[in-house]
Amino acid sequence: AKAGGRAGYRLHHPLHQPLDARARIQLDHAMRLALASKRFRLTYQPQHDLDSGRLVGVEALIRWHDPGRGGDIPPAEFIPVAEASGFIVAIGEWVLTQAVGQASRWLQQGWPLPVAVNVSALQFQQPYFVDQVQAVLEAASLPPHLLELELTESLLLHDAEETLSRLQALAQLGVRLAVDDFGTGYSSLAYLKRFPINKLKIDRGFVRGLPGDESDAAIVRAIVQMAQALELRVIAEGVETEAQREFLSRVGCPEGQGYLWAPALEAEVLEQHQRSQPLPPAPTPA
Ligand code: C2E
Ligand code: MG
Ligand code: MG
Ligand code: MG
Repeated sequence: AKAGGRAGYRLHHPLHQPLDARARIQLDHAMRLALASKRFRLTYQPQHDLDSGRLVGVEALIRWHDPGRGGDIPPAEFIPVAEASGFIVAIGEWVLTQAVGQASRWLQQGWPLPVAVNVSALQFQQPYFVDQVQAVLEAASLPPHLLELELTESLLLHDAEETLSRLQALAQLGVRLAVDDFGTGYSSLAYLKRFPINKLKIDRGFVRGLPGDESDAAIVRAIVQMAQALELRVIAEGVETEAQREFLSRVGCPEGQGYLWAPALEAEVLEQHQRSQPLPPAPTPA
């Protein structure tokens, strides 16, 4: 390969072996085929109330199993390639439609479960994005408050005026807005007061070291307090241990998501997971 590349598409993180241009093109082609031949699946990771254990929502996460490419291809591998090529727009539309359809079926079964969907910057920036969200909700007859859009900090920092009006339009629709991976972007916290954000998702990088790591503990406490002061909801990502759950609950974080409860599950498996939910813990004697 020619050294350096032409357009600076090489991402140079020494620890990550960047896919070379040919591998990216091949992966992009395989994704187009996968979408057309219905090889993507959408799975749902439960979100729980930290104290009662009650299921309070789910996050839709895409899965791609391709025996020809050695099995499961993780989103961290193909989503960045799709973002670079623009194909993320088509993938994102598929995810939105699937997730809203599933939420609507659950609602029809008497189960009003909020579903969160990850939205990439490029998808959000499409001029028709807000209209599309509205059309997808209407087609499925899903009340907008049962859809949450997960946005990243970097997306929120891009082109502030356009972003603001688009977020306001979404909030006007009644869709919920969450900041994903909170604390990992280059955040000017100013956007929290300007934008109609409903929720912060504490990145699992800050949850990992709980409860022992003092910096993580301090950061998580600060995020929870800030969320409370700004009347934002807050959820911790990547909760894996009972000790983490206990710490989070103690500092006032109401909700969590992570392997402690379950990974992302097929819809039918999630329904079983819900049925097998433990009853809320008995109140402790005073
Ligand atoms: P994310 O939105 O922050 O999603 C959370 C990720 O953490 C998921 O990885 C989930 O499986 C993983 N996770 C959940 N609980 C735990 C835990 O307790 N421990 C650990 N170690 N990990 C946990 P996943 O599904 O591999 O997705 C990775 C990223 O790919 C997502 O991060 C999101 O940025 C992106 N992604 C996934 N699905 C979609 C999608 O449909 N659209 C878009 N635009 N991006 C997606
Ligand atoms: Mg997410
Ligand atoms: Mg996240
Ligand atoms: Mg993440």
